[in-house]
Amino acid sequence: MVINTGSKLILLDTGFGPGAFAATKGAVGQLGNNMAGAGIDPKSIDIVLLSHFHIDHAGGLRTADGGLVFPNAEIKVPAPEWAFWMDESNISRTNTYNKGHFPNPKKYFAGIESKVTRYEWGKEVAPGITSIATPGHTPGHTSFAIASGSARILAQCDVTNIPSLFLTHPDWQLMYDNDPQLAFATRRKFFDMAVAEKATVVGFHFPFPSVGHVEKAGSDYRLVPMPWNPSI
Ligand SMILES: [Zn+2]
Repeated sequence: MVINTGSKLILLDTGFGPGAFAATKGAVGQLGNNMAGAGIDPKSIDIVLLSHFHIDHAGGLRTADGGLVFPNAEIKVPAPEWAFWMDESNISRTNTYNKGHFPNPKKYFAGIESKVTRYEWGKEVAPGITSIATPGHTPGHTSFAIASGSARILAQCDVTNIPSLFLTHPDWQLMYDNDPQLAFATRRKFFDMAVAEKATVVGFHFPFPSVGHVEKAGSDYRLVPMPWNPSI
């Protein structure tokens, strides 16, 4: 998602990136094409705001040969996510999937540490955008509230994945959740908040239009899709 605040152009997560696009013949890594289709030049991105360090969210910082996809952007990352993945001793605290993933963040950030700003939870991290603690999927996994005037949407990143499976069964776990019990508790807390405030929710992995309202369905939840709209 690219957010135009009027003064800043902010990219929320990068997708897999151009290397994966080439390697998979376009099965993943379509962000570059989609930005071109939308008339957005990667050089015009002021801030890359990362939710967490999984490769489908942060791998697109780099080209296949190590170049910068967003050369003029400040990169903002969750402080707890940085602390976890940059400390080698934490590999003992990963599950099987995340153990395999452990070397990747060091590769994205190698040599560009000076472009990286670490942000805390519960703070305004860019104009109108507030970070929300949603750990469990990864230790520093973060969601965002994006506000304009009295309107507000919640970007849930990887709090959950495919809504028809995982909103309706919020206690089901994917192998990507590093701490399944914490992810489960976070998911219920986040969606109880979304239901209470009748929030518009955006999901990174939701099918198009990837935006809707969350309703309670018995003790679980369901997504009620909304028409896609580029403004809030
Ligand atoms: Zn993830």
